[in-house]
Amino acid sequence: MNKRIWLSLAHMGGREQEFIQEAFDTNWIVPLGPNVDGFEKDLETFLGGEAYAAALSAGTAALHLGLILLGVQAGDEVICQSFTFSASANPITYQGAIPVFVDSERDTWNISPEYLEEAIRDRMAKGKKPKAIIPVHLYGMPAKMDEIKAIAARYEIPILEDSAEALGSIYKGIHCGTMGELAALSFNGNKIITTSGGGALISKKEEHIKKARFLATQARDAAPHYQHTHIGYNYRMSNVVAGIGRGQMLVLPQRVEQRRKNNQYYKEHLSGVEGISFQTEPSTDFYSNYWLTSIIIDPQKTNGITREDLRLALDKADIESRPLWKPMHLQPVFSTCPFYGGGTSESFFEKGLCLPSGSILSEEELSQVVSIILSLFS
Ligand SMILES: *Cc1c(COP(=O)(O)O)cnc(C)c1O
Repeated sequence: MNKRIWLSLAHMGGREQEFIQEAFDTNWIVPLGPNVDGFEKDLETFLGGEAYAAALSAGTAALHLGLILLGVQAGDEVICQSFTFSASANPITYQGAIPVFVDSERDTWNISPEYLEEAIRDRMAKGKKPKAIIPVHLYGMPAKMDEIKAIAARYEIPILEDSAEALGSIYKGIHCGTMGELAALSFNGNKIITTSGGGALISKKEEHIKKARFLATQARDAAPHYQHTHIGYNYRMSNVVAGIGRGQMLVLPQRVEQRRKNNQYYKEHLSGVEGISFQTEPSTDFYSNYWLTSIIIDPQKTNGITREDLRLALDKADIESRPLWKPMHLQPVFSTCPFYGGGTSESFFEKGLCLPSGSILSEEELSQVVSIILSLFS
């Protein structure tokens, strides 16, 4: 019996339980302790040693605290890439602020610098300057950060990078997650490394990260009793799961390498198929961790075979695949939010599919996926 091939499964390195055991042995079963400190240090080192990290309970919590640190309040507007997972945008509404969605461009599939600038100008003309910009490095592909940063600087709007899918991705020699004023990472179960659930807020400004740690532990002032001058959150990572993170950091480079190999494998075996194209690094400036290998199927070139035909054929063969993220401007819950763009992300959503991409996949499993695809398209 073959077992089901999943999109992206957790992949333990082997040493995780040693760190968890240490937490038990020393009774650090709380949302602070040596594993939390160690995991933060590991992240800081991996990201090049110039940024600070606060380990949190989720990537969503990191985005929320990032917005708070940028002073986003009720009634403010925040620009967000439309083509993303809802967790990029939800925290904007936690603050009572309004998401302004911007379409993608075709090279990286990420936020379009042209539409970004149009959105900023139009919002300013309507009387409100956006408080922050949230670009996303989708499926690990770095966004066009030079262009985005130039626009952000011109209008003096801070960037909060959603780097939840892009740990290990690099743009012009710089790690994703270190290019904005702040950035969020995620260690959810299906991400490139996982702590079962967790996230981190990253910044080169130490005061941001100190404040994030403070807010994430109920904003307790320095006093013998419980004293509060700020509204706090319970967003800190537990010392137990941080142990998983420390173990995962030991194998992160191999995980990136394996996901890139998966991507290479698919490209080698499917590049000849008319009507299938890949999310691909536009130049050597872009280095994607290829968290999920993603393809576009153009039914006009495939004799009418659609993304959904392929998804169902794979499912029948017990292989999980998934449509690309449905853009936020098409989500019922965000239907009243402003949107700037055309039909790019909408067309990606209609035609796109994420293929099984876990670092745990064997070459035999990859070849099964490829053979189902080839047989459908032959
Ligand atoms: C996973 C993800 C998040 C949220 O991270 P959690 O750790 O699941 O809260 C945010 N943005 C993007 C693009 C993601 O893929």
